[in-house]
Amino acid sequence: MIYEPIIGLEVHAEIATQSKMFCTCPVVDNTIAAANSAVCPVCAGMPGMLPVANRRAVEFGIRVALALGCEIAPVSVFARKNYFYPDLPKGYQISQYKQPLAENGRLRIRTSQGEREIRVRRVHLEEDTGKLSHVEPPHPNPSPTGRGTKGDGHSLIDLNRAGVPLLEIVSEPDLRSAEEARIYGETLRNLLRYLAVNSGDMQKGVLRFEANISVREVGSDDFNTRTEVKNLNSFRALERATLYEIERQSELHHKGQRVIQQTMGWDEARQVTFSQRSKEEEDDYRYFPEPDLPPLVVSQVWLAQIRADLPELPEARRSRFIEQYQLSAYDADVLVAEQEVAEYFETIFVTGPKINPKLAANWISGDLFGLLNQAGVNLSSARLSPQNLAGLLTLLEDGIINASTAKTVLSEMFASGESADAIVERRGLRQISDQEPIKAAISQLLAENPAEVQQFQEGKESLLNWFFGQVMRSMKGKANPQIVRDELQRQLGE
Ligand code: ADP
Ligand code: MG
Ligand code: ZN
Repeated sequence: MIYEPIIGLEVHAEIATQSKMFCTCPVVDNTIAAANSAVCPVCAGMPGMLPVANRRAVEFGIRVALALGCEIAPVSVFARKNYFYPDLPKGYQISQYKQPLAENGRLRIRTSQGEREIRVRRVHLEEDTGKLSHVEPPHPNPSPTGRGTKGDGHSLIDLNRAGVPLLEIVSEPDLRSAEEARIYGETLRNLLRYLAVNSGDMQKGVLRFEANISVREVGSDDFNTRTEVKNLNSFRALERATLYEIERQSELHHKGQRVIQQTMGWDEARQVTFSQRSKEEEDDYRYFPEPDLPPLVVSQVWLAQIRADLPELPEARRSRFIEQYQLSAYDADVLVAEQEVAEYFETIFVTGPKINPKLAANWISGDLFGLLNQAGVNLSSARLSPQNLAGLLTLLEDGIINASTAKTVLSEMFASGESADAIVERRGLRQISDQEPIKAAISQLLAENPAEVQQFQEGKESLLNWFFGQVMRSMKGKANPQIVRDELQRQLGE
């Protein structure tokens, strides 16, 4: 029996506003800020405090919904989702339920299997919870959840994150592989970054994934029981956990056993999913409309303004790059995948309008990405400016330096932030295109290696590359390679 995975993703994205969703506390970076340094009576859940919705957060939510092609509700309703957990001081989370901000969108993804459109069921606003840290007692045999151990362990609560605006984006169960799930997540992250709604900084937990997974026999139209894997905080974890669940469930079906609907976690160390609790039903949350907040009204005028302010989105930019710069779809994908890369690429042509875009694309995705990886930095913090890269590519295209010199200069520019001109002048790296010194170097080489010359003339053509390398070496890599090749052919032919 062959099984097909059915996957739907719920994505929680923190909205990068200055202040929280329902109070004026600042949104702080929790990897830096002191615990509980950004808390007020509203987000601490004190009785009698009244929430007020953050207009900017709503606006950001609408931006995302519009970019996903959703229908925006003229009126949406905040609702209380009641549950008890120590990171939730009010005892309920303000979310949206029956009437969300937006519905019926779609996101186009590109995988190794081609293009697909994934339907987005809903986009709604809510608030984040606080954060618990569990200080464990030493224990020889910790439970997989890292919790539930006895002894002198204790838990700490930080409410800085409580009330931070969150956007929940829920897909239809349209994804059909772990790879698709990962790529959907990456594409969505990229979109959120383009929209300046979310930094996409997964290590800071500003973007979290929940994968709903079931499997069914290929050819069937039914949906089987699903499990939900929570708190996937990297694309690797998302893909691995999904794969693991697909295999686990396929095996259960295969053995004629049932998949139990449950909420699961992902054990990063052991690379397995584990059961956290049986799935709660909607009734368990006793949703009801939030009495302290009026319905959220989005006027046509406001909507039109937000739409007009949308930046160029990745899909549109991709098409434009293919058209305007004559790039391949592959190159366009690579450049558009990160907004900062796309902008870096385009800035090159402000300085060097005549530079060949394909050349620029190759140098960015090849050598520059290599240097960035090696140094472990991202483009925005690199010392190599797009203006300086334009300078280097201009020297290359004008034949002032050759490609191998350009590589050396690039590394130096990357390390020092200097311009290409300055490095080439200081180190005397200008390419030698004069015929005379090249001719002289070649005659000397051939005179010194009569045996090789003879072998070449007897048909050992591979020696051409050897001769070429020797000439380049004797000229310290600065000779114009095309002239060297032509002259070598000529002299060897004689
Ligand atoms: P909740 O998690 O609150 O119960 P839903 O029932 O609306 O929410 O579904 C949440 C997610 O589960 C959605 O992304 C949806 O696409 C996905 N989903 C629903 N049914 C299945 C299924 N049988 N297999 C896999 N995913 C599913
Ligand atoms: Mg869910
Ligand atoms: Zn507050």
